[in-house]
Amino acid sequence: MEDNGLKELYRHIERSDKVLLGIGEDFQYDWGALTHGQRYQEIEAEIDAREEYLWITPFIQKMALQQNKEDKWKKAYYNLNKMLAGRDYFVVSLCMDDYIYTAGFDEERIVTPCGGFRRMQCDHNCCHELSDIPQDSYEAVMRYYRREIPIEALQEPSCIKCGAKLRFNQLGVTRYAEEGYLSRWNAYTRWLQGTVNRQLCVLELGVGMAYPTIIRFPFEKVVYYNQKAFMYRIHPKLYQVSEEIDGRGVGIQANAVDYLGSGYCMKACTSDSA
Ligand SMILES: [Zn+2]
Repeated sequence: MEDNGLKELYRHIERSDKVLLGIGEDFQYDWGALTHGQRYQEIEAEIDAREEYLWITPFIQKMALQQNKEDKWKKAYYNLNKMLAGRDYFVVSLCMDDYIYTAGFDEERIVTPCGGFRRMQCDHNCCHELSDIPQDSYEAVMRYYRREIPIEALQEPSCIKCGAKLRFNQLGVTRYAEEGYLSRWNAYTRWLQGTVNRQLCVLELGVGMAYPTIIRFPFEKVVYYNQKAFMYRIHPKLYQVSEEIDGRGVGIQANAVDYLGSGYCMKACTSDSA
């Protein structure tokens, strides 16, 4: 917490009645560390030639996420959690890595509309229902990863209703099951209604233009209409806050994960000097 910008952010959050936090695609866990591992590269080479086994990749990603590790994400989430402890907050995150669910936040105050690795769904969403991860499939992939069984022993899990592939409930499947997040989304919109005319601190971390209708545009609108709201936008390139917010926003040019983890930023500017 050496950096003054981060301290100021802390103080701002302390003074606010409510905190709206948007976490963007730049905060997404980088699979690089996993793909550099020797075992992963062997597996990649093995499934490269055998596409019917491509389905095991997300299982291995899930495994990697569950391993206890010290990295910059952990540090950033730790600081965020410390900042928000005891506050009336809500988090909208575009990340699909589920990291936030392991960082000590109140799950009732999180919505992840792009999905993740917590539940599975039919690839065609035939029944509009999510299902738990079949433990036998997960364990078989882990055993294969540990070289205890050959790849031929693995069997892809399928939908019990229609027989289609069972996939993790995340964007990228053939028909994404929005059922996975809609109830949390409704909780979010109810919470948002309660921010009207309250001291609201809006914090955007690494939110680019991948899904601007989920975080960027609506967050600006919230600040625009609530004269007591103030926005922090942290992004390496798209950190500028719109002129309409008129002095009620700060853009900080930084990688949000690094910034939250260490307080490092390239440049900070207020909306009137942007
Ligand atoms: Zn199905």
